[in-house]
Amino acid sequence: MPELPEVETVRRVLAERLVGRRVSAVVVPKVTFYRRPPPKALTGLVDSEFLAARRRGKYLLLDFSGDRTLTGHLGMSGRLFLAPSAAPTQAHERFRMDFGPESMRFVDPRRFGRIACPLPEFGPEPLEAAFDAAHLAREFRKRRAPVKALLLDQAVVAGVGNIYATEALFLAGVRPARAAASLSAAERERLVAAVKRVLTAGIETGGSTLSDEAFLDPLGHPGRAHLAHAVYGRATGTCGHKLVKTRRPMAGRTSVYCLVCQR
Ligand SMILES: [Zn+2]
Repeated sequence: MPELPEVETVRRVLAERLVGRRVSAVVVPKVTFYRRPPPKALTGLVDSEFLAARRRGKYLLLDFSGDRTLTGHLGMSGRLFLAPSAAPTQAHERFRMDFGPESMRFVDPRRFGRIACPLPEFGPEPLEAAFDAAHLAREFRKRRAPVKALLLDQAVVAGVGNIYATEALFLAGVRPARAAASLSAAERERLVAAVKRVLTAGIETGGSTLSDEAFLDPLGHPGRAHLAHAVYGRATGTCGHKLVKTRRPMAGRTSVYCLVCQR
């Protein structure tokens, strides 16, 4: 599932390529639009100007003239990409927005993506100053839930998912199943720094493109963040130790960690 670095990569390409251009058409293929009619928030954008592409957590917020914002998220394997408006409709294409000769298309085979959706309650953006050790101290206080589950909770911090939480916990030297309240002040400091570091590196390298959930940016380029993973998707960590899996899944996912480097 695309996490903050992947969505940020998409946002940057859309901002660079489409901001300032006018919507010439919105085309929804005849197949059902998520079993409902396409929302007016999408079809009503014809003739408006694309003003800005923003991101909050894993959500994209596309601003158009007339004070309109199209919200959306990519779901498990949804892709926004750019193609000539004249190119044929792709399999699983949910809509196409034409900007003259160039179009933005949303392809979503597994239908977990959403367009014109309400935004959930978000915690702070992890790369902003509001996400600090004091914030984690408040959120982790008296919480017996595993620290990993709280990192995945979008109301605690926005945009972190399984990949980057797994990597950050390794860097911070904290086991994923630890009760959140059991972390020391020093561990919370390390965890905040680790989350910021893995997300920043993820953005700089264009996101993670894993074989099972192949993320590509809107121009069709894969990311390189997965090449730097220390533990995620690996049997042996970059520390040289054989990794183990958590016995119970957290937020639906098992997690790898190092018994030697993480406590
Ligand atoms: Zn290790």
